[in-house]
Amino acid sequence: MRKIALLTSGGDAPGMNACIRAVVLTALHYNIEVYGYQHGYHGLIGQEYRRLRAKDVLNIIQRGGTILRSARCHEFKTEEGAQTAAKNLNALGIEALLVIGGDGSFRGAQHLSNYWDGQIIGLPGTIDNDIAGTDATIGYYTAIETAMDSIDKVRDTADAFERIFLVEVMGRHAGFIGLNAAVASAADQVLLPELFKDSENTVTDILAHIEGVKARRGDSSYIIVVTENLWPGGVTGLAEELNSRSGIECRPVILGHVQRGGSPVAQDRLLATRLGAHAVEIARSGATGIMVGEHHHQVVTVPFAQTWAERKALDPYLITIMESLFDLLQRP
Ligand code: ADP
Repeated sequence: MRKIALLTSGGDAPGMNACIRAVVLTALHYNIEVYGYQHGYHGLIGQEYRRLRAKDVLNIIQRGGTILRSARCHEFKTEEGAQTAAKNLNALGIEALLVIGGDGSFRGAQHLSNYWDGQIIGLPGTIDNDIAGTDATIGYYTAIETAMDSIDKVRDTADAFERIFLVEVMGRHAGFIGLNAAVASAADQVLLPELFKDSENTVTDILAHIEGVKARRGDSSYIIVVTENLWPGGVTGLAEELNSRSGIECRPVILGHVQRGGSPVAQDRLLATRLGAHAVEIARSGATGIMVGEHHHQVVTVPFAQTWAERKALDPYLITIMESLFDLLQRP
């Protein structure tokens, strides 16, 4: 194998740079040239690339974002878009393309495989952890840390004023960040898409829980973690609803894109390094159409289609613990 290419696509995540570094250094170890495409699939269509050498990945393991930049590209979804990308890869003599991104990027990789004969390998990079076949995705651990830190800070001010806060965390349509950040920050309540039933009962249950907790603890702060895209109108809408039903004043806080940034925590750097190195190893063995992931601390490979075929489940044991803790909060 002589030449590979690499790109980052879709939502960026802390640890993408650590992954780029591992890919480049492992490939150089085998005397393979690495070409980095800028701006995801957009750069693939525009033939926007540069050769990546060891000096290009110096001091990037600790940096958030991605030195290759990321983008979303509608044109790539079309037949013509993918054909142009295939033509460009062939013109450069690329034998394998490594894609760091989320499930959308993997669908894109699958789409490209209909028009390009080279090998395509995916690396899971997203804070949401919503990719089946890998226990964690690159960026997920850092996002939990950031959300937890932020909730701790909200708790300080909430405590000072004995207020109720609703904190919206990211996750797209999955509750991984919400569940873990809520447990790690000892939130008083959490709303996750996986456990959500209906709005009416949810409001009633929350109000009863607040009453129960108040009766037990007296006036104190109360924090509800809510996954984005769950409540119509977001946490602002939910705060208004709780307020209109009970007169209780609630403050909404949307954490937003801070969760996508920052220096990756050690777990993300290590995951990114292991997966990046392994992706080059399996590219050399001729593999294609697969994602490299980690399961039970072992590196695994998973066909692209399996990464989005099923919804990855939250840890049921952590849910049980969380629910019994919430219950304890309100018991006399
Ligand atoms: P993520 O990888 O974070 O899930 P997106 O869903 O935005 O991010 O996908 C990133 C890019 O992958 C899109 O902008 C598009 O170029 C490509 N893509 C996504 N879904 C498809 C699809 N079904 N077919 C072809 N390309 C796709």
